Amino acid sequence: MDRRIAAIAGLLYDIGRLAQLAQPSAQGTDATARSEAFIRQHVPADLLSSGWQDVLRTAVGLADRLVAGGDVGQSQPQPRTLLSVFCQIGDDPAKRPKRAYLSLRPLALDEATLFPSAEVRGDAAAYASLWQGLQDAAAKLQGQADAEAYIESLYHVLRRYTWCVPSAAEGVSLFDHSRVRAALAVCLADLGEAEIQNLLQLPDDASRPLAYLVKGDVSGVQRFIYTLTSKGVAKGLRGRSFYLQLLNEAIARYILREMELPVTNLIYVGGGHFYLLVPPVGEGRLLEIRRGLEDLLLKHHDGALYLALGHAELRAADFRADRFSAKWREAGGSVAEAKRRRFAHVPDLFEPRGHGGNEETECQVCHAERRDIARDEEVRKCALCRSFEDLGGALGRSQVLALGQITPVQQEKGRYEALLAELGFKVALLDEEVEKRLGDWVGVTRVTVLGLRDFPAAQLCERVARALRCPVAAGVRYTANVTPRKGQYEVATFEDLQDASTGLKRLGVLRMDVDDLGYLFGHGFQGKENGKERHLTTLARVAGLSSMMALFFEGWVGELCRRINEENSDRKTDVLYTIYSGGDDLFIVGAWDVLPGLAKTIRDDLGRFAADNPYVHVSAGITLHGGKYPLYLAAADAAEALESAKDVPGKDALTFLGESHHWQDWKKVDDYKNELHGLVEVRQVGRSLLQVLQRMYAQYCDVRDALAERGGLRARNGRDQTVWGPYMWQSAYLLTRLAERVNGEVKERVRNLRDRLSADNFRAIETVGLAARWAEALTRSTSHSKEGDK
Ligand SMILES: [Zn+2]
Repeated sequence: MDRRIAAIAGLLYDIGRLAQLAQPSAQGTDATARSEAFIRQHVPADLLSSGWQDVLRTAVGLADRLVAGGDVGQSQPQPRTLLSVFCQIGDDPAKRPKRAYLSLRPLALDEATLFPSAEVRGDAAAYASLWQGLQDAAAKLQGQADAEAYIESLYHVLRRYTWCVPSAAEGVSLFDHSRVRAALAVCLADLGEAEIQNLLQLPDDASRPLAYLVKGDVSGVQRFIYTLTSKGVAKGLRGRSFYLQLLNEAIARYILREMELPVTNLIYVGGGHFYLLVPPVGEGRLLEIRRGLEDLLLKHHDGALYLALGHAELRAADFRADRFSAKWREAGGSVAEAKRRRFAHVPDLFEPRGHGGNEETECQVCHAERRDIARDEEVRKCALCRSFEDLGGALGRSQVLALGQITPVQQEKGRYEALLAELGFKVALLDEEVEKRLGDWVGVTRVTVLGLRDFPAAQLCERVARALRCPVAAGVRYTANVTPRKGQYEVATFEDLQDASTGLKRLGVLRMDVDDLGYLFGHGFQGKENGKERHLTTLARVAGLSSMMALFFEGWVGELCRRINEENSDRKTDVLYTIYSGGDDLFIVGAWDVLPGLAKTIRDDLGRFAADNPYVHVSAGITLHGGKYPLYLAAADAAEALESAKDVPGKDALTFLGESHHWQDWKKVDDYKNELHGLVEVRQVGRSLLQVLQRMYAQYCDVRDALAERGGLRARNGRDQTVWGPYMWQSAYLLTRLAERVNGEVKERVRNLRDRLSADNFRAIETVGLAARWAEALTRSTSHSKEGDK
């Protein structure tokens, strides 16, 4: 049975459901009949054999049952609006959020589309508009005679119009249900009709595996990105980070191609790893593919990057909601085990080699000894490092990625394009000069044009097709791609970002990642059904949660950064650079003073995006550095700050200026900072106020820490407990003196501050201390920092 037909039929098996929602008066019409009508009307006839209806009935029908967890659907009332997948996470029913529903809009990166609301939005007019959009888009694909390009385009069209449409299973979008069903149908395509009928009768009875859930992880990533001297400029760093994204995508697609599987079987790629659903090919075949890829990575990256590959076997019963989470963890566990073995046996080849060898052959950016070193502005760089700078520069000019397919060819080690070519890929970032960017593309058999921010324009895809005379698929791969501008054309450097900061001139580094992610994916899905708590973890839900999380970090975070750059357009340069944001974490550099606000917005927006589920939260670490401080050290410092934030009980915290606070206390810090900043900057009370408060805070810390050492502190810090000490009366005295020196309203405000602090026994000093340091940094007008200063 043709796998491509299984993919197409799998994608469209119950598209008629959207038609039903769009025309509730036609409720009686059979969704299956409408789906078949859609396939007949829209799928190019050349891509369907006469037996496609049998495929629907057998492989796709079985896949549909299995991916839904085996038993969801029939007796349940059909959902009319899509519940957010985040509403079903958490094993404590009391902590589960209120129900929130997705908007009924085609997928796009804007506020009105992305954020769920409590309002039930099941109106037929909105569905009718989605249905019409889908039909129009599907009609445009009718001329596509290439099956692979057709499947990929169809996949993206479905995502755009059905990401918000409910499937039979609550909390699962029609898109997620359809795409994992297609993936599984492809795996089942080789089964005989008798076996499928058998499985349809008794799905638990299958004794042999039906599919593998394969997880891949390109590791060594942290060091690959950050093991650089200060001479590695911003562009190179951005290029490296994007290359890792490309590499994951290329490796995932390479494996699919090796196994002759369509793109539907790429379940997830992002955050440095990928998941595939493949037929049960046997351990030997996976090992063979892994070895080939390891050799390639070793050849081109000298052991700096390598692939860990693991898998879990899926039998029919493993798709059940009470068993699937264990399988998901098993795939992850087998990758973790592969990484552990690797670290145990392979010496770390990427240690900077110092100047042991010939200095002239050592790259000053990545420290590798290579033959392709060239001087660039007095810095010796290898071809690979130079190519990453080119890639980073190209990203600053483009929001469209073209991924071309070629026959894999042997290449000499050199630029990053060499490894991608060995995997069978050409890559270009497209701007207005489409033809020029594709000028050296020969032997390309198919191209995927992926918008990084929005679906690519049809006109652009047509230009690509004309330039290369090959089939073109179009889709979107959201990527937080914000490059700071200096003037019209130049990319701002780290020094420029530092100079653009307010007050103290420092470069800020922000790192964030979602807390307890393993719990969310591995244990999280539960819900009530007929009054009983039950497990809800299915492949479709896990895939849905992954893609929603990625939508936030890859899509929405980029929009937030862009907005902040626009809001600060009066500064010398843009203020933010998204080095990386994807999966469930991010690394952003910028003018330090805008980072706390950005981090808070990201935290709040993730909360809203996740339907205010208390289990979903994110911690952050912000550090400040001189613009010449080596970035790998800055990255490590920020990682340590992030770790400190995760030490706060319950996590969900931020570390800034060396202090960690729970996000829920952050408003207090921010309010005090604003008040103090206002007093110092506008009211001319003098910075002595800030110094008094900081001294007072230091004294308080001494008392607090001494108390903690004696075991007299109940909480981790004094926030919930009065910490008695002489700093109290001394502070009150100093603030009184300060108030005497100023007049009018300012006098009142200083006194008011003193009285508020006294009234709660100075417990607020925890927040005021940080607020005073923050306000001080904002008002300090020193120019450049000492090198290496933090
Ligand atoms: Zn290098």
